[in-house]
Amino acid sequence: MLVRVLGSGAGGGFPQWNCTCHNCQSVRDGKPGFTARTQSSLAVSTDGASWALLNASPDLRQQIADAPALQANPKYGLRNSPIKAVVMTNGDVDHMSGVINLREAQPFTIYATRRVLGIVKDNSIFRILAADTVRHEELTLGQPVALSGAGAGLGLDVEAFDVPGKIALYLEDASAGPSLGTTTGDTIGLKVTERASGKTFFYIPGCATLDDALKARLKGASHVFFDGTLFDDDEMVRAGLMPKTGPRMGHISMSGPKGSIAEFHDLGVKRKIYVHINNSNPVLDEASKQRRAVEAAGWDVGYDGMEVRL
Ligand SMILES: [Zn+2]
Ligand SMILES: [Zn+2]
Repeated sequence: MLVRVLGSGAGGGFPQWNCTCHNCQSVRDGKPGFTARTQSSLAVSTDGASWALLNASPDLRQQIADAPALQANPKYGLRNSPIKAVVMTNGDVDHMSGVINLREAQPFTIYATRRVLGIVKDNSIFRILAADTVRHEELTLGQPVALSGAGAGLGLDVEAFDVPGKIALYLEDASAGPSLGTTTGDTIGLKVTERASGKTFFYIPGCATLDDALKARLKGASHVFFDGTLFDDDEMVRAGLMPKTGPRMGHISMSGPKGSIAEFHDLGVKRKIYVHINNSNPVLDEASKQRRAVEAAGWDVGYDGMEVRL
């Protein structure tokens, strides 16, 4: 099974279009030790020929252009695509709006929870993906499904599970109190299994906190691609970028006693890879002490084009 990190950045990417923070300006200026990142997405394949996307970011067009394996192939005629399925982990703009890049009457299947499929159905712009061409399959928490698309199986099973998180920003309901209207399944993680080998990995690009259920699920896992949005809970507040902390945004931080470095310490996960890294995160400076700290703790900092073979 081959996993390719299409985009390792969080919403907005790196640099973010309207941001002149230290990191964004450094990467824009081409300073050594800063590498641009597109928005969050993985691609997975068992044979290198048919692929499933885990989230579809607005940068998908560029991500396909950067990945020959995801491009149309003249061997299969005038119109074709190796992308057979898209699995969405929530309704965030950076995770699902990129499916619009896959228009032009190409068949594939969208997998998401009922609530996220409802967003696709309710927003008329997504009708460009006509219902007779693009199939919708509902993900039910805890029930693995065999991915298929364009009439063929992908040899992959995907299980969705609830993770602590937050409703999509544009659906927040202030009248609902601190929950903002968040319900179970608004943010999911994915366990992906290659059926032939039984090998698995987890993809959790958004996670507010590691509760006991999630820790039990991840214990001893071979590979986890995990939410690396922030290093410190309040880094965006301190930098003057916006008034929201990590918990308010639904993202755990890397540092701190309840951060991901500490919480993963005893879980025995063989390979831990940060993805969904926000442009404010100091680990994006390869010379920073924070970068050294996460690497010393056994984490990889994911990058666009990173490939992991399981
Ligand atoms: Zn995101
Ligand atoms: Zn920035």
